[in-house]
Amino acid sequence: MSGKLYEARNLVQRYNGREALNVQHLAIEEGEAVFLTGPNGCGKSTLLRLLAFLERPAAGELRYAGGAEGRKEATLLLQDPYLLHMSVFNNVALGLKFRNQTGELRQVFECCMQAAGFADPWNFADRGPRELSGGELQRVALASRLALRPRVLLLDEPTANVDAASARALAQAVKNCNADGITVVCATHDPALLRAIDAREIRLGTSWDMDACASPL
Ligand code: ADP
Ligand code: MG
Repeated sequence: MSGKLYEARNLVQRYNGREALNVQHLAIEEGEAVFLTGPNGCGKSTLLRLLAFLERPAAGELRYAGGAEGRKEATLLLQDPYLLHMSVFNNVALGLKFRNQTGELRQVFECCMQAAGFADPWNFADRGPRELSGGELQRVALASRLALRPRVLLLDEPTANVDAASARALAQAVKNCNADGITVVCATHDPALLRAIDAREIRLGTSWDMDACASPL
């Protein structure tokens, strides 16, 4: 798969017998930044779930360079992420605790929160999810994913429900992640986000011919 992190052929997802996604061919290179655009209901979120290996496709092939490690290496940030009812610190540290990497928790917390745009992470460490704005919550959720050092960061309309300052911080964070070598695939309609990151755009369509579904590769 020379350089390709993902390669999909004739990838189909169906829910209750209805086709939600049909992509003839899609390739994503390691280290690439890709935007998924297209009208509501065209399958962006569905494709992200498949790329995160949270669902199996109804038909077709999805190859990943890391093989079965995809579940661990790819992380999906949802549009309205859910934080557990514990402190921000514990939300960010939880994944590392599960992996028994507890030696470096404070350092990782600081570093990932800063990467997610928090200039003073310790000011947020003891807060609960209800003491955060929508934008702060989205960025804490991003920090919690960065703590696991993902190879692929999948984002589903990350700026849809956040204030302008958080949207800018998120754009910068995603840009930095990609500069650090993380492959980024982001569904978005947000013109500011599309402008902020130099990424290839793949337009999904509601008619499933090759041209409407994915840009030429
Ligand atoms: P987008 O993110 O581009 O708005 P989605 O991937 O959410 O599109 O949805 C694609 C299509 O699949 C839509 O018609 C949607 O209603 C349908 N769909 C998505 N998820 C499910 C599901 N879990 N069950 C049934 N239908 C779904
Ligand atoms: Mg969606």
